[in-house]
Amino acid sequence: MSGLTDIRERIRAAQRRCGRLNEPVELVAVSKVQTDVRVAAVLDAGHRVFGENRVQEAHERWTKFRQAYSEIRLHLIGPLQTNKVKQAIALFDVIETLDREKLARKIADEIEIQGKCPDFYIQVNTGNEEQKSGIAVDDLEQFFKKCVETYQLPVIGLMAIPPVDEPPAPHFALLAKLAERVGVKKLSMGMSADFETAIELGASSVRVGSAIFGARPA
Ligand SMILES: *Cc1c(COP(=O)(O)O)cnc(C)c1O
Repeated sequence: MSGLTDIRERIRAAQRRCGRLNEPVELVAVSKVQTDVRVAAVLDAGHRVFGENRVQEAHERWTKFRQAYSEIRLHLIGPLQTNKVKQAIALFDVIETLDREKLARKIADEIEIQGKCPDFYIQVNTGNEEQKSGIAVDDLEQFFKKCVETYQLPVIGLMAIPPVDEPPAPHFALLAKLAERVGVKKLSMGMSADFETAIELGASSVRVGSAIFGARPA
């Protein structure tokens, strides 16, 4: 799987350039909308960590793939509606888009019911974009406390998607600063076009889709 090999090499090279070779950088292969054939090729190449943005689509695909391949780890990287929480908790190992109290409360209730608990990232709207999901930068500290203290959710890091029309580096730097402020270690940032920059600014996890699988079908 040449796309996958190429990205792994570029991740290593970026780590080497910034002296981070002994800090692991996780590769989340974003398989949303890709064909099962392409996804199977990446599974056959030994990769096991995938990202999806829709709960229902992911449920159908990965219920099937989990019967054929072991140790798959799934990340939810798209917005989560409260009416999909039940299915999301059952399916995902990591939910990267925790961003509002109503959702945190619903998730906490569902964890209690299912006795199963994913890890969480809080999504931060670093560009303060009106239509974008993610907690506002100014509300992060209070929301983080709520998630951890009131709802007892294992929040391991922060996630962001920079505005498409701005250079990503300042957003990555801001996310790193915010993570340090609230005291979490993990940073999910960087996609096909900018994962190397993200690694240089401290990403511990990059979410790469089209550069591995090829362009998404329209
Ligand atoms: C689609 C998506 C990605 C991957 O995008 P590529 O540009 O294909 O690498 C990463 N993160 C999120 C949140 C996405 O929705």
